[in-house]
Amino acid sequence: MPGGATQMASGWISRTTRETIYRSDAEACIYCGATEENSGMPLTLDHIQCRVAGGGHAPSNLLTCCYHCNSSRQETPMPRWLRRLEKAGADVVAIKSRIALAVRRHRALETRIAAALAA
Ligand SMILES: [Zn+2]
Repeated sequence: MPGGATQMASGWISRTTRETIYRSDAEACIYCGATEENSGMPLTLDHIQCRVAGGGHAPSNLLTCCYHCNSSRQETPMPRWLRRLEKAGADVVAIKSRIALAVRRHRALETRIAAALAA
């Protein structure tokens, strides 16, 4: 497929996969619920387990994240990041449940991608 090489060159995750993850997360930040429209910034993908801690680019390690949350978390380990959100008044129980559901959806996505590649 001719698009393949272009997608590889355009970044560490294909645009199609990135957009599929955003859609599966209702195009809103898992942490704060911000969207592109109300944050005025493009959505990003956040690594649950940070790259520096060995986290990979598989969809099950990625969350839709607004620019603000991503740049404020940076490489903070998830437990510490959640404590920080909690101190700032966020509903961390709700956030944890959104993360768990997103991981489940993204894992199903991985299975579909693997099946498509094998076909
Ligand atoms: Zn956010």
